[in-house]
Amino acid sequence: MKSTRAVRVGNVVIGGDNPVLIQSMTNTDTCDIDKTLAQIEALTAAGCEAVRCTFNNAECADAFKQIKKSIDIPLIADVHFDHELAILALQNGADKVRINPGNIGGQAELEKVVQCAKGLGKAIRVGVNSGSLEKQIQDEYGVSAKALAMSAVNSVRFVHSLGFYDVVASIKSSSVPVCVEACRMFAEQCDAPQHIGITEAGTYNNAIIKSAVGLGALLLDGIGDTIRVSITGDPVYEIEAAQRILQSAGIRTFFPEVISCPTCGRTKIDVSELAEKVEAILQAENKRITAAVMGCAVNGPGEAKHADIGIAGGGKKAALFAKGELVGTYEQGDVLEAFTSYIRQNF
Ligand code: SF4
Repeated sequence: MKSTRAVRVGNVVIGGDNPVLIQSMTNTDTCDIDKTLAQIEALTAAGCEAVRCTFNNAECADAFKQIKKSIDIPLIADVHFDHELAILALQNGADKVRINPGNIGGQAELEKVVQCAKGLGKAIRVGVNSGSLEKQIQDEYGVSAKALAMSAVNSVRFVHSLGFYDVVASIKSSSVPVCVEACRMFAEQCDAPQHIGITEAGTYNNAIIKSAVGLGALLLDGIGDTIRVSITGDPVYEIEAAQRILQSAGIRTFFPEVISCPTCGRTKIDVSELAEKVEAILQAENKRITAAVMGCAVNGPGEAKHADIGIAGGGKKAALFAKGELVGTYEQGDVLEAFTSYIRQNF
């Protein structure tokens, strides 16, 4: 895993050895302060750790000032086309401004934003997107992973050459293979932290699968300092998806882990119902442990051996195991009570 530079963004630090943060983006009109704050509140309650809002025009300045005063997580301004809006956002509460090198104007404009961020102690995200690459790079390399990585590397190196290092990069494409390859290429060439995500990933089912594949591949490579799961619709759904991706990649723990077998012709117990109940009990008891629910006594105890606790069906009975050792055998109707009592006493 390559180490990245640590970049302070408001009250969090992105990169270095810091936890991979979960970000999202509001889809309200930023100038509608009440609606935007309500959505940020819902996102924060779900576990969002940094939020991005559009900064489309000068009227957003007042809204940003008020929003910043009312929230506890870093506020990021999303700006396109106009570097003066980026500067206005930094001056009015944004902890970081996301600009796109493909449409912000050029190096002179980027330098003005950098000088403003430097003076105010704020950060910048250089966000490269397959839909808006710089023309000369696109003319030469097309919309390829190489072109995306090159655009991000060039922009970040330019920012670094100005003596400014509080810059995060993001390279996004709606194609998972292109996005993954581009982020890997960037990580080979540059030590700026990366915000990773599959852009325009679609509606819920498609978005979470595409994001799990793309972000999972990168996270397992040690790439990614913040993540966003882009889902069409209510952004609050993005947060649990991001938490589950981070947990599945073994990076952060948010939930109890329930391992349950797929069931087969040997199944002796209602694994599906039992697994859901076990998960609900662990959530309610706030026990972030690993529990296994197995359908039979043939493979169940063995497969559950590495879990903290496990249930395996057998005949009309159910066996309760802890760390592979038998705790007891119960009527199937009583095993959940024994399970609950055991986790209360031992975890
Ligand atoms: S644990 Fe038993 S019931 Fe479940 S899939 Fe394996 S063999 Fe089948």
